[in-house]
Amino acid sequence: MSDGASPQPELFDHVVNLCKRRGFVFPSAEIYGGFRSTYDYGPVGVLMLRNVKDAWWRSIVQRRHDVVGLDASILGPPQVWEASGHLTNFTDPLVDCRECGQRFREDSLESGDVCPHCGAEKSFTEARQFNLMFKTQAGPVSGADAYLRPETAQGMFINFANVQFTSRKKPPFGIAQIGKSFRNEITPGNFVFRTREFEQMEMEYFVPPDEAQKWYDYWCGERLDWYVELGIDPGLLRLRPHGDDELSHYSSETSDVEFLFPWGWGELEGIANRGDYDLIQHADHSGHRLDFFDQATNTRYVPHVIEPAAGATRAMMAFLIAGYRTEMVRDEERTVLGLHPRIAPFVAAVLPLSRKAELIEPAQKLFSELAEHFNTDFDETQAIGKRYRRQDEIGTPYCVTYDFDSLDDGAVTIRDRDTMDQVRIPLAGVVPWIQAKLV
Ligand code: ATP
Repeated sequence: MSDGASPQPELFDHVVNLCKRRGFVFPSAEIYGGFRSTYDYGPVGVLMLRNVKDAWWRSIVQRRHDVVGLDASILGPPQVWEASGHLTNFTDPLVDCRECGQRFREDSLESGDVCPHCGAEKSFTEARQFNLMFKTQAGPVSGADAYLRPETAQGMFINFANVQFTSRKKPPFGIAQIGKSFRNEITPGNFVFRTREFEQMEMEYFVPPDEAQKWYDYWCGERLDWYVELGIDPGLLRLRPHGDDELSHYSSETSDVEFLFPWGWGELEGIANRGDYDLIQHADHSGHRLDFFDQATNTRYVPHVIEPAAGATRAMMAFLIAGYRTEMVRDEERTVLGLHPRIAPFVAAVLPLSRKAELIEPAQKLFSELAEHFNTDFDETQAIGKRYRRQDEIGTPYCVTYDFDSLDDGAVTIRDRDTMDQVRIPLAGVVPWIQAKLV
């Protein structure tokens, strides 16, 4: 874990520029002047974001027999948010500067008395609680009130009985979900770190009450390790327990996995011990039983919940920052995104050495073969050195070059992004060679 690394503010601009230049992330509605705090994921960004979510799903659902998946609706009736406590408690303290009219989240102001926008002193209004949920109407002509979910978690709680009954799982077991959430953040910012529309990866792990502490500790460890396994230097990560004054209304214990962003430590994920709060709340409000009957002991109990809740878009930003580097190669600077092969937009790029048809055709055939197994790029433009640099910048771990010798020896050259070493591999061996790197 953290060994005293310091933030690198200059990294922020480099990464944001790269995202725009290479098609990772675009400001939303840019041709109309942009729509603050919303972003669109471009051709390579969408691949990377999917890979981050797939890596999470693989580790949380696919590789475990004790966790099942769910895809619940984004729109929900007020009853859900009343029971969960969001209608009352999901607020941030909002202050206005009387001089310039700008609004701020009071607890985000570095200097409590000075307006960061106009510099006026002691100009803030009294703080008032601002609810972060987006409210809308469902149905035509004075439809029913509805809310866009501010977290995916409630979908798992209100489906507890459906999922438990149909999957026949017994605690400890989990329900996992990936999807969009919406919060009307007072001060969105730092690129995709805090936006009003974002994607979450959350899991509710239901356990017998006396096992809650054990599973809380377990999931704190698992979740920290996930980021390390996907290539983030452990020195850029830490697990920070919440103080009593920080705990959410439902939580008895929470720890954040934090990453050293260019501006300092920031939350990537929270792991919370939510106790039996949510199931009891929804059982009380809905009148439906949300508990578990343990046939082995002939007892009925309300499971406690351990929740690892991560942001997919925020995690992607952390992977981009952690992976970004520049280095000199023979008097020339190259920019590299040292992304783990599982989350890099493309695992491989097929590069025919020349645009002559005799190379393009077999290279395209090789592309089709690779693309059956993983995201593969195909690039026939410009000099090979330029094409390598372009792939380095979007983090492609393996460039496969089809050259004139390939026509005779039936082999290709694979270049490693990080070491720039090259190996010659028979065509039939390319897929297994790359697949072995994906474990
Ligand atoms: P923060 O303290 O940063 O506002 P939070 O503690 O309210 O976050 P949670 O409710 O625990 O966040 O949500 C789980 C995860 O969802 C966060 O760790 C983060 O990765 C992600 N997340 C939350 N809010 C946003 C947002 N506005 N934009 C992007 N990601 C977000």
